[in-house]
Amino acid sequence: MVLREIDTGHRTGAWNMAADQALLEVQSEKPMPTLRFLSFSPPACLVGYFQAVEQEIRREYCEKKGYHINRRITGGGAIFFDPSQIGWEIIAPVSMFPYPPQKMYSVIGEAVARGLGTLGIKAVFKKRNDIEVGGRKISGMGGVSYRGAFLFQGTLLVQDWIQEMLYSLKVPIEKLKPKEIDSVRERVTCIENELGRIPTREELKNAIRKGLEEVLGLEFRPEKLTPEEKKRIESLLPYFESEEWIYRISLPEELQGLLTGTYRSSFGTIKVNAVVNARTNMLRATYITGDFFIENRESIFDLERLLKNIPFNERKIISTVEKFIKKEGGLPLEDFLGAFTEVFNKWRWVKEGFTPDEANNLFNVNFRPGDKFTPEVFLFPYCAKKAKCPFRHQDECTICGDCEVGEGYEWTEEAGLEPRTVTSFEDLLDNFEDMKKKGINEYIGSCCEAFYVKHQEEFRESRLKGLLVNIENSTCYDLDKATLAYRGLFENKTDLNMKLIKKVLGYIK
Ligand code: SF4
Ligand code: SF4
Repeated sequence: MVLREIDTGHRTGAWNMAADQALLEVQSEKPMPTLRFLSFSPPACLVGYFQAVEQEIRREYCEKKGYHINRRITGGGAIFFDPSQIGWEIIAPVSMFPYPPQKMYSVIGEAVARGLGTLGIKAVFKKRNDIEVGGRKISGMGGVSYRGAFLFQGTLLVQDWIQEMLYSLKVPIEKLKPKEIDSVRERVTCIENELGRIPTREELKNAIRKGLEEVLGLEFRPEKLTPEEKKRIESLLPYFESEEWIYRISLPEELQGLLTGTYRSSFGTIKVNAVVNARTNMLRATYITGDFFIENRESIFDLERLLKNIPFNERKIISTVEKFIKKEGGLPLEDFLGAFTEVFNKWRWVKEGFTPDEANNLFNVNFRPGDKFTPEVFLFPYCAKKAKCPFRHQDECTICGDCEVGEGYEWTEEAGLEPRTVTSFEDLLDNFEDMKKKGINEYIGSCCEAFYVKHQEEFRESRLKGLLVNIENSTCYDLDKATLAYRGLFENKTDLNMKLIKKVLGYIK
């Protein structure tokens, strides 16, 4: 098959997004299989179609640096597009492409990886949608279909802008597997780091083209955008520059009534945000966000529509979700149910007298609020102890009054619980083993949400019942200190949510 090849050069985020939409629309009307190369200037932070900007991007930082923020028409997680990166896209009618949509990731991923080989880079395609070099991500991919046509795209990291990426994005730590490499920096590489030089744009385009030729048997014919495509991009541009598009998914103002459940798996991270009116017992709206990719993105909105302005009834909602996912096919039922179950657990806390905001700051491990719960241990995170405290990395606390952990220890002992300090991830696992040996099956603890989400599986697999209280201020993941935290070397001080800890201790009495 012969594809026309176009290079639209460096453009703004809005222009590139408008071009994606325009090319896809034209393709569904007049088939014209296309390979497009693209780049961004100024740098752009792009959320996936289903993501909320405020959850994914450090807006203030981007605005200060003049980085543009926009929303892709494809799913997946937020990305930072610096001007050195090169993006590639294949846009074609589904019927003309020799592979079914579900094979697209692997065949195109393998083709681009092969192409990088021509530059001397040993790249491999890694499920679901990455290309890696020695275990480090160098390219991510995503796709969308529209009226019989598809757009499949990927990016290639060229120069080392990784620090800026970390500062601009709220790092999606849920993507990293437990026990795997712990910092995002360690998970990412770029052409410059691999080759020790920066190839020209033509060299990079040649490499990608070559991979596609060799693996997919495609041929290319250089061309330009047609006048019709240019016209359509210009007419779509104001919409893609508008807040209506960029902030089309945002979490509602009335956070008081918002309950959030998160479930992480190989499919991606699913966040279910349910706006519940606790007074009338109604589910007013459901927003399903996250970094997952699905073929038919509209189906998520169909599901959201079914979960709007209905009684907040667990049995009925779960059965609606089950029926919908079975009918739709291709979506992981267990993961969606996991995220919804967490929402109902938050709701149980509301029923037990906690506010929705407090409920969102409680994470339940192998435990349903309202069930019998007799914890014997309280696990404090070392990061809440004063930075210079001589007991920061020990279980002890002399209650010297220099930080709130002392008061936490006092309350815990008064409630009949043994206070312990968790000094690293390994120490947490050791504590679990020790508790099991001593026949202790239930505990309370405190940690940041990022840590809990990242280690959800280990918490679950411990088979201990736990209740974790979120900590108050920015976490080491936000500050790119995850590796240090893992080893117990994070130096900042976080704050315990003392009000909520007191309420929880009062509740279990
Ligand atoms: S209250 Fe405890 S943890 Fe805080 S500084 Fe004093 S001894 Fe250290
Ligand atoms: S991950 Fe960092 S901020 Fe979160 S609990 Fe651990 S040390 Fe504290």
